[in-house]
Amino acid sequence: MHLCTHWHDWFYQEPTAGGVPGESPCAAARRRRARDRRRATAPSPPPTTPPPIATDQLVEALRPHLLSPKRMWALGYPLEIEPNSCKAVVYVNPPPRPRPPQFTSFDVNAPEFVPGGSQSDSGRGSLGSTPRSESDEEADAVEHLCVRCDKMFRMTREGEYVVEESCVYHWGRISSDSRHTCCDAHLGSKGCSTARFHVWSGTRPGMNGPLEGYVRARSPRGGVYAIDTEMCYTTAGLELASIAVIAADGRLVYRSLVKPSSPVVDHNTRFSGIRPRDLARATKTLRDVQNDILGFVGNDTILIGHALENDLRSLKLLHSAVVDTCALYPHSRGFPLRRSLRALSQELLGRSVQKSSSGHSPLEDARAAMDLVLLKVHEERAQRSRASKQIPILQPYDPLISAA
Ligand SMILES: [Zn+2]
Ligand SMILES: [Zn+2]
Repeated sequence: MHLCTHWHDWFYQEPTAGGVPGESPCAAARRRRARDRRRATAPSPPPTTPPPIATDQLVEALRPHLLSPKRMWALGYPLEIEPNSCKAVVYVNPPPRPRPPQFTSFDVNAPEFVPGGSQSDSGRGSLGSTPRSESDEEADAVEHLCVRCDKMFRMTREGEYVVEESCVYHWGRISSDSRHTCCDAHLGSKGCSTARFHVWSGTRPGMNGPLEGYVRARSPRGGVYAIDTEMCYTTAGLELASIAVIAADGRLVYRSLVKPSSPVVDHNTRFSGIRPRDLARATKTLRDVQNDILGFVGNDTILIGHALENDLRSLKLLHSAVVDTCALYPHSRGFPLRRSLRALSQELLGRSVQKSSSGHSPLEDARAAMDLVLLKVHEERAQRSRASKQIPILQPYDPLISAA
């Protein structure tokens, strides 16, 4: 799953796209031109289809790649507070994303938000939501950060905007020379797109929870599946709108549109691929989809995805056996940077995903994540096979044995 807009774009930087610290814009431009020339001459890898593998062998091969609870926590996966509680907590890392000059006073080390605690900042001390208590009238309002334009805005706890204000933003990512890729304008320039409302993610940096409505598989069912979801912005933040699940052989196991529980503010079509008419024909609720998923996902089933924590959060599914292609193919500059599914798919599978102007396809993205995992498994098996066939080169030369 993909966190959309800016946060997504910052997290999913490519190793060659990032700037070098202290590098001048001219030097960066020279370096980029040289890189583009190299790319223009480099042949694309041929489309790769990993060979088939039996499910039990795949399960064994994936065991070393399962994320530990500690790693899941650091990556933002939902974890159960205590066994059988079905209440989740999620730790969200604040991304140190580049900020326009007017925001340089932003303090990324600001104290963690404590519900009910005093807020002495100017409203920019948290990337998530903060309650305000300036007066009795405003006590019911909650302040959120718009994930598109970085403005704080306020909503009532019932999900109504206190002030209706349009959101002016850039939808593109920020390039290494501090320009927005949507319109090539400099970082900090006025947005090139306008939406009717601001939107928020539904989470805030630091600890989130206890979160209700989560489910967990209780019995074993085996199997390996890849999951991808797409989300829309609602008054409650990002909510599940579409899901696809595929098996290791590429077979589509499950696909559904999902009716969000809160009013949709923005379908986020550019990134989610969800159009208003799609959701109009959605009949399933999140609860329906959870029940469907638990019909074939057991507590031992291995789930695969790219940044799967977002999918499990939107699906409100607690699951321990996960393989994440973000962790399998880490960014060369380390965590928290991540490689995008699009780049990994292009580079390693020779396949384009997320090229459509109408947004991502959860089916296409789930297949790409599964194939990236199968490719890794295939490479590791081939490596082991080569190693086992190698003749030990340090054996002392014995003329008698050689003659025989
Ligand atoms: Zn723009
Ligand atoms: Zn906004």
